[in-house]
Amino acid sequence: MRILLVEDDPHLGDALLVGLRQHGHAVDWLRDGVAADLALKSEPFDLLVLDLGLPRLDGVEVLRRLRGRGQVLPVLILTARDTTGDKVAGLDAGADDDLVKPIDLDELAARARALTRRAAGHASPRLSVGDLSIDPAARQATLRGAPVELTTREFSLLLTLAENAGRVLTRAQLEASLYGWRDEPDSNALEVHIHNLRKKLGSERIKTLRGIGYGMLKS
Ligand code: CA
Repeated sequence: MRILLVEDDPHLGDALLVGLRQHGHAVDWLRDGVAADLALKSEPFDLLVLDLGLPRLDGVEVLRRLRGRGQVLPVLILTARDTTGDKVAGLDAGADDDLVKPIDLDELAARARALTRRAAGHASPRLSVGDLSIDPAARQATLRGAPVELTTREFSLLLTLAENAGRVLTRAQLEASLYGWRDEPDSNALEVHIHNLRKKLGSERIKTLRGIGYGMLKS
């Protein structure tokens, strides 16, 4: 999934960026509220991880503006231990969950999965599409019960397709779920990943809609 991380502390921001990438996410990191507000207006994200104490525009205000525009993406706020007031203001402004610093990376990754799963309308942590089963927490896919070896990017792509089974996703939507801004895709990288997924999972599972994008069959 594509995550926007907004944190002005360089050490914490860097640790979270690296950690979330190791969990297989495409992460963009911004350090102030104005930049975050602009990015949220123009780019699609699956999750916002938002520090509340930010330069230029405070995190609660970023959140109010986001919800004011009717944007529903899940938001996880990061708060300092002694700032209960901030946390309440953040939740009132439309945050879905909060984590108190110091941040435990595994807990952050687990909450991120839970939030995006809920946002996608999946109550169960496992996702099934026909004879394919996907476990986002373990980053493991099984086909008719047998584990399938996938690279990090192949897994991310498969998860995005499976979460949207029965719908067509454009190239831009799929690339956005795979890459962050500092991580520009090769022009044919998406095709290569799709090709590999078809080789591993069967060629009929992922449909090409020429000139539009790709979609996974529902069953
Ligand atoms: Ca801060």
